Amino acid sequence: MAGEPQADCLFCKIVSREIPATIVRESDTTVAFRDINPQAPTHVLVIPRVHYADAGTLAAAEPGIAADVLREAAAVAAGDRVDGTGYRVVFNTGVGAGQTVFHAHAHVLGGRGLEWPPG
Ligand code: AMP
Ligand code: ZN
Repeated sequence: MAGEPQADCLFCKIVSREIPATIVRESDTTVAFRDINPQAPTHVLVIPRVHYADAGTLAAAEPGIAADVLREAAAVAAGDRVDGTGYRVVFNTGVGAGQTVFHAHAHVLGGRGLEWPPG
């Protein structure tokens, strides 16, 4: 069924606590944890508890939860005090854009200068 946990999904296993993570925030619908390979002083992933392959698929199926992910991304930035200096929310979508985990996730990046356009 759409949104059900996938046995081979790393982020479903973080949601179920089968794999440990440094969790910074949780809500009824989302989990936020520090990226294991941080690209900035603040690098946190916000994921929905439900499994969808990417952000667009999540938004089409569960728009309320997609909004929760965005709200939690802002809360993470405020919690790490990078909201004042600015932060970036990134949804890599597809292999060509660097997506490696096919469970929707927002990257929240901040705490250093962020170039535009991104690489
Ligand atoms: P993406 O490349 O956009 O699919 O992002 C996947 C992200 O997950 C990468 O930035 C990885 O560093 C991160 N990642 C992979 N495994 C873990 C893990 N066990 N805990 C935290 N972050 C992870
Ligand atoms: Zn998953």
